[in-house]
Amino acid sequence: MKICTLPLGPLNANCYVLIDETTGSAAIIDPGDFNERLKIAVESNDVKSVDYILLTHGHYDHIMGVKKTKDNFPQAKVAIHENDANCLLGDDLNRGFLHDFQLEPVEPDIILQDGMQLQLGNLKIDVIHTPGHTKGGVCFVCGNAIFSGDTVFYHTVGRTDFENGDYNELLLSIKKLLELKGDYTILPGHDRASTLEDERMNNPYLRECQ
Ligand SMILES: [Zn+2]
Repeated sequence: MKICTLPLGPLNANCYVLIDETTGSAAIIDPGDFNERLKIAVESNDVKSVDYILLTHGHYDHIMGVKKTKDNFPQAKVAIHENDANCLLGDDLNRGFLHDFQLEPVEPDIILQDGMQLQLGNLKIDVIHTPGHTKGGVCFVCGNAIFSGDTVFYHTVGRTDFENGDYNELLLSIKKLLELKGDYTILPGHDRASTLEDERMNNPYLRECQ
């Protein structure tokens, strides 16, 4: 398993390319933009097929590159939780800060639900519904990595003051992540990576939940 990190788009949302090196299957997580760097990250890693475009949630800074990514990799299935699926069609409630940007609408191919498992080559990706930042926020767990979107960041958590945010719901979602046994690398939607163990010890919001 190989993971490339590319901050993309107007708010530098972390886009991740997750690659199963045994088969060359890849997933692109949260393309906030599509540019040459993302193309090179795919091409330089012997990717044979991009199977998925996985979305942790529907905020514009995470989905603005979905249309172009899909145009470049038409076989990739676009997956988003049912509660945020309308964002891909340009629902205005999910712009966050980005009032001046236009979204090219895309129809989702897969509607995600809590507990679903996706197969990426020989890798398995588990979907955990983690609402709070948005109603359709999810975390993707693959091997020892959690792609946490805007649910958990390094020593903090996602904002809940946007439309569809709910702080109590976010804390319940964090409890779900805390139930995961052992340690994981946390790859968040913005800024630096962390580990679940570091967050258990040093994140005041996670400590509140234990
Ligand atoms: Zn967000």
